[in-house]
Amino acid sequence: MEPVRQLAATLSQARRLLVLTGAGVSAESGIATFRDAQTGLWARFRPEDLATPEAFARDPALVWRWYAWRRDQIARAQPNAAHYALVEIARRLPTTLVTQNVDDLHQRAGFHDAICLHGSIARTLCSITGQAIDADWLAAHPQEPPPSPHHPRGLARPGVVWFGENLPAAALEQAYAAAADCDVVLAIGTSALVHPAAGLPAEAQRHGAWFAEINPQRTPLSGQADLCLPLAAGVALPAVLAAWNGVHA
Ligand code: NAD
Repeated sequence: MEPVRQLAATLSQARRLLVLTGAGVSAESGIATFRDAQTGLWARFRPEDLATPEAFARDPALVWRWYAWRRDQIARAQPNAAHYALVEIARRLPTTLVTQNVDDLHQRAGFHDAICLHGSIARTLCSITGQAIDADWLAAHPQEPPPSPHHPRGLARPGVVWFGENLPAAALEQAYAAAADCDVVLAIGTSALVHPAAGLPAEAQRHGAWFAEINPQRTPLSGQADLCLPLAAGVALPAVLAAWNGVHA
């Protein structure tokens, strides 16, 4: 069977779905993935080198400005057809969505209970206590980065999980519980290089789930997938929904 129809047919029979998304699901919203080439101002930096606690300790202003630039880019972006298709899939089939994205586009498309493994770029935290810092404080402190209201030596930092930091334990636990309890798992737009998120499909497979990957490029997960759809997410997911409608016609 043709792969789009095969995925639609599998979803139409599924009991519980787990979806893992990465930066690729937001690429068609105009948000650069980590591994896309950066342009202009940031061409000299590897984003991975700016997304670490060491980078922030070394040069907090540089890291703060890079995140401010990304926050602006994200605030102007809109959810795309892939984000909306996932909302529709969850309406038809009990679905747990686990995302590595920090852009909140799943939520803005209407997927309100997505599990965010890597935090949210819209949030700002104290670098020492981890407490949230509100927008009024940030607006009143134009420094780059602003000081923290919660600790005399604290600085404002983005509310994302950096490379080398622990993932929020509750979110990770929920994600792995969902992996143990799904019969279909979908990985969409992730290079599957960042663990433990990248281990979720294997965990689901260990519990007997069927696994499909949607990504124009091959990844370390492709070899273990039962089906690979080498398409952009914003093309593949609406096509799967259309085929699913056909399954019931
Ligand atoms: P990644 O940049 O490592 O990989 C992106 C993947 O998406 C690649 O495999 C690429 O082939 C694929 N891709 C590109 N365009 C696509 C499309 N239209 N449809 C489907 N797939 C497409 O990103 P990652 O795997 O998410 O992991 C790296 C980290 O990057 C994560 O921790 C995440 O927090 C962070 N990140 C998040 C955002 C965001 O929130 N939008 C953006 C950049 C990076």
